[in-house]
Amino acid sequence: MPSVIAFACQRCGHCCEGVGGIVMSAFDIKRLGDHLGLDRNTLLERFTEHVGGRHRLVTGTDDYCIFYAAGCAVHPARPDVCRAWPYFRGNIIDADSHAMAAEDCPGINRQAPHSEFARQGRDYLVANDLCRPRGEDVPEALVSDTNPDTPEEAEHGRPGFDAS
Ligand code: SF4
Ligand code: SF4
Repeated sequence: MPSVIAFACQRCGHCCEGVGGIVMSAFDIKRLGDHLGLDRNTLLERFTEHVGGRHRLVTGTDDYCIFYAAGCAVHPARPDVCRAWPYFRGNIIDADSHAMAAEDCPGINRQAPHSEFARQGRDYLVANDLCRPRGEDVPEALVSDTNPDTPEEAEHGRPGFDAS
């Protein structure tokens, strides 16, 4: 048990608000389609938009994710970026990004140092199989040096990924 908890979700729903943030991989699309009993094309047509070569969930008229209803209506099948937040790559490698994320996410403990947030985040990502090698289908937020692409990265870490 860590001496300080770096993050504990308060279920405020702020991270489910806003346009364009929920990018889905092919794996996410398949999992969500299976959960809803919809084939790929029907799922994409009803709930996503295709922007910049990526499929992303649309929002409702309230600007919240189409699946937000005082909580996530598809929680068991939510996309990986939803599972990973706030342990996105940027927040793990950069203390300023972590501080900015804490302004929007009340679940981030501002008393916990960034190094501890990063350590607990890496552990969480590994435990939940949310580390991904870099690839065109992978949201950049999920790319991590805990799953390196090359032997050089395995030995030295990815450029810019602070190992502290
Ligand atoms: S913004 Fe943070 S505290 Fe609020 S629901 Fe999202 S993860 Fe939880
Ligand atoms: S899929 Fe669920 S967790 Fe993800 S943004 Fe939508 S409502 Fe929030």
